[in-house]
Amino acid sequence: MQADEAPRAGKDRLRITEIFYSLQGESLTAGCPTAFIRLTGCPLRCGYCDTGYAFHGGEWLGLADILARVAGYQPRYVTVTGGEPLAQKSCLKLLRELCDAGYTVSLETSGALAVDAVDPRVIKVMDLKTPGSGEVERNRYENLGALGRNDQVKFVICNRADYQWARDIISHYQLDATCEILFSPSHGQQDATELADWILDDRLPVRLQLQLHKQLWGNARGR
Ligand code: SF4
Repeated sequence: MQADEAPRAGKDRLRITEIFYSLQGESLTAGCPTAFIRLTGCPLRCGYCDTGYAFHGGEWLGLADILARVAGYQPRYVTVTGGEPLAQKSCLKLLRELCDAGYTVSLETSGALAVDAVDPRVIKVMDLKTPGSGEVERNRYENLGALGRNDQVKFVICNRADYQWARDIISHYQLDATCEILFSPSHGQQDATELADWILDDRLPVRLQLQLHKQLWGNARGR
């Protein structure tokens, strides 16, 4: 079977690039041991993407197999990531079953696909793509109405123009009244100290995050 070809019993299966156990590198649980499920495929092509290996290929796995692999790590936290996880319809069922199994579940999503059908127990970590990403037109702003206090919006900042754009978006949508806001400097593009100084100068209600996993393990896969 070709890697991109769905199996017959496709509705309860997902195409998976990797399942692994590591420290969460971003978000409000940064530093916490977490099981990661990386789904294959993404309809976006951000200029800074560091998971291009998840665009194609992968392995079709049934939900029971995925849950069994995750259980083997005995995690408290489980993160479903990609690629863009919501590009696969069965992702919604996977998220629900992970919650039913008692894990604290988060979803990392690009913000380009609807999140309103995601189980409300799931912590949504949703990007708003900046102009520097090359995918700003894909932002689905109606998603902001589906976010709550436990959810997080992430901006990857590539340059000063991105910073100013993100600052305006936060103000326009009053995002800090809705959810947590994360700023990440784009690796190799935006100096982290400079970004920290901008945030302090403007008293922005955001959390600067540095990709902990990259500091610990570089760009190694499965970390
Ligand atoms: S949405 Fe994420 S996985 Fe998709 S291209 Fe952008 S950074 Fe890469």
